[in-house]
Amino acid sequence: MTKNDCIFCKIAEGKLPASKLFEDAHTLAFLDIGPIVKGHTLVIPKRHFDPLTATPPEVLQQLIVTVRRVAEAMTRSLNCDGINVMQSNGLAAGQVVTHIHFHVIPRYATDGHSWNWKAKSYANPGEMQAMAATLTAGFAAPPRIQKSWLP
Ligand code: AMP
Ligand code: ZN
Repeated sequence: MTKNDCIFCKIAEGKLPASKLFEDAHTLAFLDIGPIVKGHTLVIPKRHFDPLTATPPEVLQQLIVTVRRVAEAMTRSLNCDGINVMQSNGLAAGQVVTHIHFHVIPRYATDGHSWNWKAKSYANPGEMQAMAATLTAGFAAPPRIQKSWLP
């Protein structure tokens, strides 16, 4: 399954160039063209799926195993101090390419990158409990997101 206008499908098919690092039957790892930190790598399925909630569990298993392999290779080759693994769904979450992918980013104590992660708080324990109840109901609710959140 491929999508004609999808750049990651084209990379998987060899129709667009990429700095490939690793591939197996189902997944491919290549350098992100715009690295947050040099060595920033993307892991994709060779078939087109998007978003996370429409990606079959067995494909996600294949992806996370390749993410682990990339992380191991990064640790051995770059001697990095840490690794971030990230995956975005929807414009609101910063997604640009609508073919599921995991970012695997080598981190160094001195790399200067910051996620600008600003923890907020619940107004009171009741608000936090209400949020937990809302989310818990979601496990039994009918699916809402079947298609990509982006055109
Ligand atoms: P996201 O915001 O999670 O959708 O991330 C998409 C990522 O794809 C960005 O980090 C881009 O730098 C990267 N990207 C876009 N086009 C290419 C390409 N042709 N080769 C490698 N990486 C790409
Ligand atoms: Zn695709």
